[in-house]
Amino acid sequence: MAIDEHQGLHPDTLAVVAGRPPREPGAALNVPIHLTSTYHAGGEVGYARDGNASWTAFEDAVGVLEGGQALSFASGLGAVAAVLDQLPAGAVVVAPRDAYTGTRAALGDEVERGRLQVRLVDVTDTAATVAACEGAAMVWLESPTNPMLTVPDIAATAQGAHQAGCTVVVDNTFATPLLQQPLSLGADVVVHSATKFIAGHHDVLMGIVVVRDDDRHAAVARSRSLRGAIPGPVEAFLALRGLRTLPLRLARAQASAGVLAQRLAEHAAVSFVRYPGLPTDPHHDRAAKQMSGFGAVLAFEAGDAEFAERVCESTRVIAHTTSLGGIETTMERRRRHPLEDFTPESLIRLSVGCEHVEDLWTDLDRALERA
Ligand SMILES: *Cc1c(COP(=O)(O)O)cnc(C)c1O
Repeated sequence: MAIDEHQGLHPDTLAVVAGRPPREPGAALNVPIHLTSTYHAGGEVGYARDGNASWTAFEDAVGVLEGGQALSFASGLGAVAAVLDQLPAGAVVVAPRDAYTGTRAALGDEVERGRLQVRLVDVTDTAATVAACEGAAMVWLESPTNPMLTVPDIAATAQGAHQAGCTVVVDNTFATPLLQQPLSLGADVVVHSATKFIAGHHDVLMGIVVVRDDDRHAAVARSRSLRGAIPGPVEAFLALRGLRTLPLRLARAQASAGVLAQRLAEHAAVSFVRYPGLPTDPHHDRAAKQMSGFGAVLAFEAGDAEFAERVCESTRVIAHTTSLGGIETTMERRRRHPLEDFTPESLIRLSVGCEHVEDLWTDLDRALERA
């Protein structure tokens, strides 16, 4: 389906109808899983490291939702690497002090190998971030951040960064294209871990890069072909199938997250809750300005590290695992990962899924009591 055939449709509808085969008598409704490594000569794509129709269907659907051209990758970090791969050796990247641990590790690795320079800043301080863009090639934003739930001002930062000649990248994993479209706020590149909300079932790893212009699209596609971080066709099929129900899953999970955040904030054993949907959250106003909802991930602090660990081990419904964005509610104490040295010792990240909210609350309340 061409992009103009989607004009006027709501995102919830686009998630269902985009990326389908042409509407012809006898045609399949879904794009099949194209399991082939090669194609008969003479066509547009000759080898499956360069293209696969199962990826294209998924990319078309995500691209329509984000308002750009999407390229899928083997994982979120594969997508991050392809974006960093666009920079020449010696380039300076401005990045959030509290960026996702994997992104920070990838940036740190580039610095260690002498390929890139990184300036870590508090990106919620727009003036300081724009000042750091002077002489830099790229500013990396994440909104909201994983797991501190901080929110930078995407539009204001993009404007200042562009004046300094900086490319603006936004990791949109937590918001999803349903709640926030960074390209429309001025970003040049959007990155996703599709492993999370988009695929949504904790059964597949995939990443996405979305760009606005043809040249950047060609450059990122070239990086994907050369580095080989391509998704499998089965993964692309599953991710697209997940995307079809994203509006439903997210609506339910987000509503439950709002309820749980409020109740946790009032709980005697909880000292602090981070969720931009709480009116008292320091990032609430900014999030309300650039997002159409506050998402389904929150973080809370309770007791010390040992207490928080016991809370995570005491639930019955909520899975004690890393990762997020699935129909299953998951949680963990983030500091159990040695690389994540910037989060409070007792911070528990809670990714709310699609179970009944009262079952989730009972589970959390009892775990806090048992711990
Ligand atoms: C998980 C995550 C990534 C990395 O994605 P993978 O699919 O695990 O490689 C990148 N950014 C954010 C915000 C994430 O949560």
